[in-house]
Amino acid sequence: MADAHYDPDNIFAKILRGEIPCHRIYEDAQTLAFMDVMPQGEGHTLVIPKAPARGLLDAEPESLAALMASVQRVARAVKAAFQADGLTLFQFNEPAGGQTVFHLHVHVIPRREGVPLKRHEGGMADNAVLADHAARIRAALEAEG
Ligand code: 5GP
Repeated sequence: MADAHYDPDNIFAKILRGEIPCHRIYEDAQTLAFMDVMPQGEGHTLVIPKAPARGLLDAEPESLAALMASVQRVARAVKAAFQADGLTLFQFNEPAGGQTVFHLHVHVIPRREGVPLKRHEGGMADNAVLADHAARIRAALEAEG
């Protein structure tokens, strides 16, 4: 897969251009965070860079630095919003690595003791539930300042 290229028509590029809706949580000049439509747990959030990159290996270091700063910020809010005991982060690269959308993204999933993750791409969540969860996380972000 060394020659795999960035497809500007991937789903997350369309979300960045506003062509597909999302439940937005956080945005700054270099990154965007929104709810995963097929959550593996309550509060499953995705954080992406705005700069086009297929995965970890073709991203610019500056973009990665901005991405991880946003991941930390969003992770703190997600943990607070869902009173989580912990967090699980995933970042998949290429089909062999489990990647299905080819714009770099980090999964942030709040975890509770004894509650297993649902399977990856298990099913679409209810739109109203996702909207409520996004509002909870945005409120936690605002509370953190
Ligand atoms: P990965 O590429 O890391 O395997 O996973 C892509 C993730 O994107 C999956 O968890 C999937 O549920 C999520 N996803 C796929 N399509 C959409 C979409 O249109 N909107 C949102 N918000 N998430 C999506």
